[in-house]
Amino acid sequence: DCTQAFVADDLCHLSTVRHVILILSGKGGVGKSTVATQLTLGLKAAGKKVGILDIDLCGPSIPKMFNLSNQDIHQCSEGWLPVYVDKEQTLGVMSISFLLEDQNDAVVWRGPKKTAMIKQFLNDVYWKDLDYLIIDTPPGTSDEHITVMENLKQYNPDGAILVTTPQAVSVGDVRRELTFCKKTHIPVIGIIENMSGFVCPNCSECTNIFSKGGGEALAKQSGVPFLGCIPIDPQITQTTDDNQTFAQRCLNSSSMSSIQKIVDKF
Ligand code: ADP
Repeated sequence: DCTQAFVADDLCHLSTVRHVILILSGKGGVGKSTVATQLTLGLKAAGKKVGILDIDLCGPSIPKMFNLSNQDIHQCSEGWLPVYVDKEQTLGVMSISFLLEDQNDAVVWRGPKKTAMIKQFLNDVYWKDLDYLIIDTPPGTSDEHITVMENLKQYNPDGAILVTTPQAVSVGDVRRELTFCKKTHIPVIGIIENMSGFVCPNCSECTNIFSKGGGEALAKQSGVPFLGCIPIDPQITQTTDDNQTFAQRCLNSSSMSSIQKIVDKF
């Protein structure tokens, strides 16, 4: 039974994780999971040991990005083992979807079961020694977020990064996320504006398809750091037949230079 608890409540594996960062967005489709993946890759490229925890119970997409959709969770006496992307075990992935028999199954759970599962993900994954744990959350401010915030507090997480697109609607939703962070006493590390302009691969001219600057303006108004912009990058969405995973496409894409600048600020 995968839902069996492995460790006592007072023994949590997160105590061996040096930095915990939550990735939040006001709405779906703004690139939150993509940014979470890119930040994880950027930290790994900077020589850090990284884990990515996907607690988007209704739409877990991180395993697909690393091409790990058919993996099972393995257990050891210390708990659940993350699925490692590399032999050196410097990038571990854990997702609710590893527990599903069919990866396309919907998780139809009521609140208490979701809460119990999230607590278990936070407590029972044996990350070993990690520099950074990136937590990809569902969009909005749901029960899942409250559970995560409440359970993370004791480990003094670094805080939350809010992802928005430049448009006013998305920015408005992020404003609500900022209030949520304030109410739940989670520090805001900063705002990232994703899909911010399109740089033509041929002439390098930047076109602001969805306008630009909404995220930066909100950061200024709210007094939180602006971490940077990531352009719309056709390289990461391209479906090619070279068998690259989404994560490899991200890593090889030109938008990684924007990510690297953000990671340097951590
Ligand atoms: P969310 O987690 O917010 O729902 P996703 O990360 O799943 O959003 O991204 C939604 C879609 O947008 C995906 O198809 C993803 O590949 C694409 N996308 C995200 N960021 C970018 C970007 N900077 N450039 C191009 N496509 C992007």
